[in-house]
Amino acid sequence: MYFRIQYFNMLNRRKFISGSALGSVGLLLGKEVHSASIQGAPDSPIVVSTWDVGLDANRAAWEVLSRGGIALDAVEQGVRITEDSLNCCVGLGGNPDRDGFVTLDACIMDAHGNCGSVAFLERIKHPISVARRVMEKTPHVMLVGIGAQQFALEEGFKLESGTLSEDAQRAYEQWLEKSNYRPPEKNIENKKQHGPFAPTRLANGDWNHDTIGMLALDQQRNLSGSCTTSGAGFKMRGRVGDSPLIGSGLYVDNEVGACTATGQGEEIIRIAGAHLVVEFMRSGLTPEQSCKKAIERFVKLRTNKLAELQVCFLAIDRAGNFGGYSLRPGFTYAVRSRHEEKIYKSTSWFDS
Ligand code: ASP
Repeated sequence: MYFRIQYFNMLNRRKFISGSALGSVGLLLGKEVHSASIQGAPDSPIVVSTWDVGLDANRAAWEVLSRGGIALDAVEQGVRITEDSLNCCVGLGGNPDRDGFVTLDACIMDAHGNCGSVAFLERIKHPISVARRVMEKTPHVMLVGIGAQQFALEEGFKLESGTLSEDAQRAYEQWLEKSNYRPPEKNIENKKQHGPFAPTRLANGDWNHDTIGMLALDQQRNLSGSCTTSGAGFKMRGRVGDSPLIGSGLYVDNEVGACTATGQGEEIIRIAGAHLVVEFMRSGLTPEQSCKKAIERFVKLRTNKLAELQVCFLAIDRAGNFGGYSLRPGFTYAVRSRHEEKIYKSTSWFDS
């Protein structure tokens, strides 16, 4: 329960931050924030990604797409920006698990059904690039924990310090106090060996979001997707959410479209969310209708549990139409194409 409440608070805070960020983005771009009920026009290349931070990530992806690059490179390069950013919960800047360790999940999928994934990965800065190496250099789809870290090191990734930022440390201490949780002794010892805390990386001490999912359609009309996260803050040690799970946090079918998810991972896994949305698109629904239908499926399954939850989907079809839908208000996504660079505010089940 502590986990649910904490997670819900985090989403609320995120919603608040999204709200203020939207104002400034609108001003910056001289554009208004639009409702997701306006479907994106068919277009290529195009890149879409979750939350306001998607705007910066899209810019990096657009660099690749606008010079004729492939969608797979675009979705990797794009979310690396967010993993690098000190101002959000994706990557090593994220909130730790309840024993004080940041553990990362990510996956990537291309137009040909190739996919790679890492979960419970510690002290590696770019889980998305490790996921891509899993896809390209191993016979497997998914590596986890110490094995994923070992593979990353063999591939030349650097082992980072593993210290928490000052803000993550502060948030963690507050959480420890409230939750009355005491990590096992051996984890406290282990944690001490990681040395002093890293310098502050947040200007305002707030989190912006926890996951970025990105979908791109390149000039050759091939789709790819990526998803990367530090997962739910103060989760149980070893917990893995939807984000690294092909079919839950991300799915790509080049004949139909692609989808990525964000929100409470346990709930998204329950309905194999991203795959479900793609299957709805296969049946002829638009991306937004498909996301909505998946949320309705979820609502039916969890009618009595909706109060503390958020689940959000973002989808794109082969023609470049895009749309999103969420359980409760507050979900935003960013779009970049030849015609627009914009943040959309998703409609939600609670709105309707
Ligand atoms: N879906 C992510 C997870 O459950 C978290 C998020 O999207 O905020 O790990």
